[in-house]
Amino acid sequence: MLSIDRLRTGYGAREAVFDVSLSVGEGEVVTLVGHNGAGKTTTLKAAMGLLPVWGGTVSFLGRPITNSSSAANVRRGLCMVLEDDFVFRDLTVEENLQVAAFTTPADAAAGIRRDVFALLPVLAERRTQRAGTMSGGERRMLSLGMALMSQARLLLLDEPSLGLAPVLVEQVMGLVGRLVVERGLSVLMVEQNVDQALRIADRVYVLRAGRIAAEEDAAALRRRSQWWDLF
Ligand code: ATP
Repeated sequence: MLSIDRLRTGYGAREAVFDVSLSVGEGEVVTLVGHNGAGKTTTLKAAMGLLPVWGGTVSFLGRPITNSSSAANVRRGLCMVLEDDFVFRDLTVEENLQVAAFTTPADAAAGIRRDVFALLPVLAERRTQRAGTMSGGERRMLSLGMALMSQARLLLLDEPSLGLAPVLVEQVMGLVGRLVVERGLSVLMVEQNVDQALRIADRVYVLRAGRIAAEEDAAALRRRSQWWDLF
C-alpha cells in the first residue's frame, strides 16, 4: 500500500532523515518507534507531502507520489492525523466533520458521517459542541473522525496516545484496531507508548538518528518480557 525507499529529508539545510525504507501492507498496522528527535514525525510528514523529499521515493498503491502535495495525497486516500489534534476550535463537531469531507461527494459524506457517529458515539453526543471546548481525548476522537470523513485508506497517525489518560489511550488504540478490521484501513503510526502500540501493531520499525535500525514482528515483541533494548 505505502512504500518508502531510501528517504532523505530535513529542514532548511539540516538533514534529519538520512536513509529510511519501510512499507505498509493492506490492512496492516505498522508502528515507528525511537528516541525523541529520531526522525519519526519527519518521516510521516515527508510521506504525506508536508515536507520536501530530498532523496529516495515514496509510492502509494503502486504509484509514485514522491513530492506530491498533501492535498493531492488526501485525494488519493492518505490522511495524516497530527499529534496536536488539528481541529477547528471555533467550529462545532458537525462542522469539523463537514470541512474534513472536502474531497468526498456530499451524498457519500452523509453516509460516512453516520458511520463515524456509530463508531464514535462521543461525537454524536457532542455534535453541536464547539471543538475548542472539548477535552483533549474528545478532540483526538474528533481528529480521527475527520480522517475517516476524507475516505482515507491509509492513516498516518502521529503519537495518537500523547497527553491522554491511560483509559483513553486504550480507547484510541482499540478504535484504531477496529478501523483496520471493520473498515479495511491501513495504519502507519508513530508511538512512544510501545506497550499500547504493540496491542494492535503487526510490525514495528525502530528509527535511530534518522535511519532504520531494526524491523521487528510485533507478535514476537509481545512475547518478549521487555523491549527496551530495541532502542
Ligand atoms: P519526537 O518523539 O520527539 O516527536 P521524532 O522522532 O518525531 O521525535 P522529529 O520531530 O522527526 O523527531 O525530528 C527529527 C529531527 O528534526 C530533530 O533533530 C528535530 O530537532 C528536527 N526538527 C523537527 N522539526 C523541525 C523544524 N520544524 N525545524 C527544524 N528542525 C526540526
